[in-house]
Amino acid sequence: MANTAYPASYYAASANPTPSRPALQDDVETDVCVIGAGYTGLSSALFLLENGFKVTVLEAAKVGFGASGRNGGQIVNSYSRDIDVIERSVGPQQAQLLGNMAFEGGRIIRERVAKYQIQCDLKDGGVFAALTDKQMGHLESQKCLWERFGHTQLELLDQRRIREVVACEEYVGGMLDMSGGHIHPLNLALGEAAAVESLGGVIYEQSPAVRIERGASPVVHTPQGKVRAKFIIVAGNAYLGNLVPELAAKSMPCGTQVIATEPLGEELARSLLPQDYCVEDCNYLLDYYRLTGDKRLIFGGGVVYGARDPANIEAIIRPKMLKAFPQLKDVKIDYAWTGNFLLTLSRLPQVGRLGDNIYYSQGCSGHGVTYTHLAGKVLAEALRGQAERFDAFADLPHYPFPGGQLLRTPFAAMGAWYYGLRDKLGF
Ligand SMILES: Cc1cc2nc3c(=O)[nH]c(=O)nc-3n(C[C@H](O)[C@H](O)[C@H](O)COP(=O)(O)OP(=O)(O)OC[C@H]3O[C@@H](n4cnc5c(N)ncnc54)[C@H](O)[C@@H]3O)c2cc1C
Repeated sequence: MANTAYPASYYAASANPTPSRPALQDDVETDVCVIGAGYTGLSSALFLLENGFKVTVLEAAKVGFGASGRNGGQIVNSYSRDIDVIERSVGPQQAQLLGNMAFEGGRIIRERVAKYQIQCDLKDGGVFAALTDKQMGHLESQKCLWERFGHTQLELLDQRRIREVVACEEYVGGMLDMSGGHIHPLNLALGEAAAVESLGGVIYEQSPAVRIERGASPVVHTPQGKVRAKFIIVAGNAYLGNLVPELAAKSMPCGTQVIATEPLGEELARSLLPQDYCVEDCNYLLDYYRLTGDKRLIFGGGVVYGARDPANIEAIIRPKMLKAFPQLKDVKIDYAWTGNFLLTLSRLPQVGRLGDNIYYSQGCSGHGVTYTHLAGKVLAEALRGQAERFDAFADLPHYPFPGGQLLRTPFAAMGAWYYGLRDKLGF
């Protein structure tokens, strides 16, 4: 049996101790079988266990192996497309429901961290940095929009103020969201997995779901066992492959890369980000960065179609980091890694049900740390028979990628190239 390990990353190297979990080798019965132990799967499992369900989680590799254990660690509110776009697409009533939920994921993370004592370097405060006046204008509208949906922990930053929170000369201003923030993402996932187990949930690692037998009492098959369940939650996101062809057809895995510097030391670290907020810029192909608990700079950026080796990654991301912080020119890069997120054509998440008992959530298109935590709650509500919030997501239109599985990558790459050009030219 293949034993898939974590990719070499700063997160894997600084992960909290965690048990190695066995592969499924039996036939088991459960209320809910969750496929995938990333944030979507773990958050669903936790909410279900807290509500009395028996839950079995199948993970193809290890807990947090996918995007949840590799991401930039930024707690960013709302969705990859904002509420005004949703409002124009689906009307005010559905938008109101979705808008009310747009800031809930960050609260769920904080509640989880407090309730289950998860050690994941949680810090408050995230900055959206504007590179142009047009982007600053957009942030001003975004603040009004978010305030309309009850989110008030926001502050616009003029050029002088943003220099006080980030030592980068490129920005004309920004917006500080004190309910944003950052975490060690793998340690959050590992802490959530421990919480699942503390409530009686069972997680099998190295146990890929290879086939789903649909029907009134569905069965999930792994190479050496099977799980019969009342419900299935599909939470494999960009790593799901073709297990559920309906889901593969309307989404596209995309790679994005991250580097971690050597420890910078307290003084240099504080000179870059004095309040230890995380930062993302407002470009479509955005750069994002933050400090770790041991004062490294984690820097991610851009979207690449296809995996990369670490030498490649450093060559792509380091120049972006030096553009923001030329003062880091002599700093060594200790880690470089890649991960996949799942893009949808609308850039809105896809949530739904296949038949009566197979539920899914996927495709938050970049910003997923908060959304996936909310998704777990919304899926669990639906399984308990309270589907109003689930339906608000499920009713969002889903579109197949033009060109099908063969041509979707070049089409999306052309789209990204166009938006990248817009970012460069500032329009
Ligand atoms: C490099 C990178 C940086 C990012 N930075 C940020 C950020 O800073 N802020 C933010 O908000 N978002 C960020 N994101 C996005 C965010 O990480 C994801 O949206 C989120 O983690 C997705 O969680 P998930 O549980 O849906 O999927 P994943 O975390 O990918 O988990 C899916 C899991 O399912 C498993 N699986 C797949 N198929 C099967 C199967 N057949 N059987 C069993 N198990 C299976 C996989 O092994 C994997 O562990 C980033 C993503 C990447 C890749």
